[in-house]
Amino acid sequence: MEKTEKIWMNGKLINWGEASVHVLTHAMNYGTAAFEGIRVYQTPKGRAAFRLREHLTRLLDGCKVMGIEPVFGGKTYGLEEVIDAVKVCIRANKKVDYVKPCVFLSGEDVGLNPVGVPASLYVACIYMGSYLGSASSGAKVITSSWHRPDNLCGPAGAKVSGAYVTSCLAKREAVQAGASEAVMLNLTGHVAECTGENIFICSNGKIYTPQISECILDGITRKSVIEIAREMGYEVAETQITRTQLVTADEVWMTGTAAEIVPVTSVDGRIIGSGKTGEITEKVHGRFHEIVTGKDPKFGKWLEYID
Ligand code: PMP
Repeated sequence: MEKTEKIWMNGKLINWGEASVHVLTHAMNYGTAAFEGIRVYQTPKGRAAFRLREHLTRLLDGCKVMGIEPVFGGKTYGLEEVIDAVKVCIRANKKVDYVKPCVFLSGEDVGLNPVGVPASLYVACIYMGSYLGSASSGAKVITSSWHRPDNLCGPAGAKVSGAYVTSCLAKREAVQAGASEAVMLNLTGHVAECTGENIFICSNGKIYTPQISECILDGITRKSVIEIAREMGYEVAETQITRTQLVTADEVWMTGTAAEIVPVTSVDGRIIGSGKTGEITEKVHGRFHEIVTGKDPKFGKWLEYID
């Protein structure tokens, strides 16, 4: 990750090094925060944030789930104000390919009661490059011993900070096993998703991905890939996927804002398909890349231009 110059915090642009919080910040101790990750791409018409409106709607939905009022620095923020804040922050920084806005309970308090604890919004821009590095051309994944938290254990469909402890545990397990990602099963034993990515499989030319009720994040890249693949003529089913279906699939890939589209070439030491990026993965990825870099006017509505 490369740092940038400015962070936006509660209505003001501040220097990167000044964006700090107190140790007793509620969110820091109890994970009471909702966040987003958004990619910024270079296009022929300048920088564009991919599906900015959808990401920030999910952020505000996360606040709603957490019961956090979007009042930051004494001002109430709606979707348009949060979109403006993100654009202001991107414009204030030169080399940006990823933006992380985060709403967090910033009041200093000891005790779990979140009611009445003041909130803050920050927007941080970074240059991330490739999230999974060399694994982006073919990732080795394991099945984690940690399960994707169930809807009864927390808001599985919201991007809330505390829930990411499980993802961090699963990611640690993957890295220590020499893999780049971990697949988490849900409490019924079905394939749910990876630590920061949704998952797709392809068998006999048909594409499958776990349905939302499988305790997954309603990923924006997932949604985009479903739409793109259908538009390309593929049949896509949102369904339940077993571990056996995962391992015996012809192709497997992960989708996420940070990772984008990454082929999976082995699961728990079993080679997937030919062990190389599958044909459908490659085609969908190619089309996705054209769209996010502004080379396909048909999906121009997904790009929010910045400069
Ligand atoms: N699942 C989890 C747990 C994630 O953190 C992410 C990243 N936001 C995703 C899936 C993919 O979602 P999106 O495509 O919206 O980035």
